[in-house]
Amino acid sequence: METSSISSLDINEYFDKVYAFIDYESTVLQQHFEFVRNWILNDKSISEMKRTHLLNALDNREEKWNVSQQEGVEYICKNCQGTIHAIQYCEFCIRDF
Ligand SMILES: [Zn+2]
Repeated sequence: METSSISSLDINEYFDKVYAFIDYESTVLQQHFEFVRNWILNDKSISEMKRTHLLNALDNREEKWNVSQQEGVEYICKNCQGTIHAIQYCEFCIRDF
């Protein structure tokens, strides 16, 4: 039976599998996201839809991590002019609301 939905369990299982191949000794966390992203992009065993889901989930993980670490690429919020690290929302405006 073909199912069109991909559960978060599928996503987490996939990430667990890929994360097991990361060389934690010689890489930093920022490189892990790159490693997993390349893995997803080169994985010929998954459907394009699953690939899209996985990349979105990875973006969310990376964004959460950037916010928690206050690292990564910085953006200026058009609303409050704060320096932010998330792409999809402003850390300060969300706090203000
Ligand atoms: Zn803002």
